Amino acid sequence: MGSVPRHEFVLEEFRDRAYEDYPLPIGEGQTISQPYIVAAMLEHLALRESDRALEVGTGSGYVTALLSMLCAQVFSVERCAPLANSARAALLRLGYNNVAIHVGDGTLGWSEFAPFDAILVSAATPEVPPALVEQLREGGRMILPVGPAWSQELQLLSKVGGRVEVRMLEGCRFVPLVGGRVDSG
Ligand code: SAH
Repeated sequence: MGSVPRHEFVLEEFRDRAYEDYPLPIGEGQTISQPYIVAAMLEHLALRESDRALEVGTGSGYVTALLSMLCAQVFSVERCAPLANSARAALLRLGYNNVAIHVGDGTLGWSEFAPFDAILVSAATPEVPPALVEQLREGGRMILPVGPAWSQELQLLSKVGGRVEVRMLEGCRFVPLVGGRVDSG
């Protein structure tokens, strides 16, 4: 985490606060995730260098950059085109080149590149999206905040023998996962 320049992923006016441990606005009513919870999520995913990861909610591209360093390939879906475009530009400029970003509804995953060894969802959902479970490889792990808009529980799902095991981790608070429509900006 020390090697990813978080200041490159926040708005100009928040750059002096980029290394504090809290979320910050990134425009479009969205936020860059808090470093603490990002670290916890990445640790629980226990990524391997050979992993192909799916991220839902690219936002600033900050978590995408971290995933890019920890696994072989990152496929990231963002519903808001302006955010996807600026994340893509920042990642390219900084040399994170094993990343593909798609503008679309992340609750549907990215079937073209499935199955994934790991799935990280950066927005809160009341239920685990079934398409994401389907696109998880046998032995794969998915981490996501599950619950209503005001507070959620971080859950770690593992696919073992075709069944899904769920571990409840800790309380958290993310912006909501918006299903069904894409914001073309
Ligand atoms: N990890 C990102 C978090 C961004 S906030 C970061 O640190 O910058 C969550 C993001 O999820 C927002 O950018 C929001 O637009 C996006 N999002 C919400 N619903 C979505 C959906 N259904 N599909 C894809 N992205 C979605």
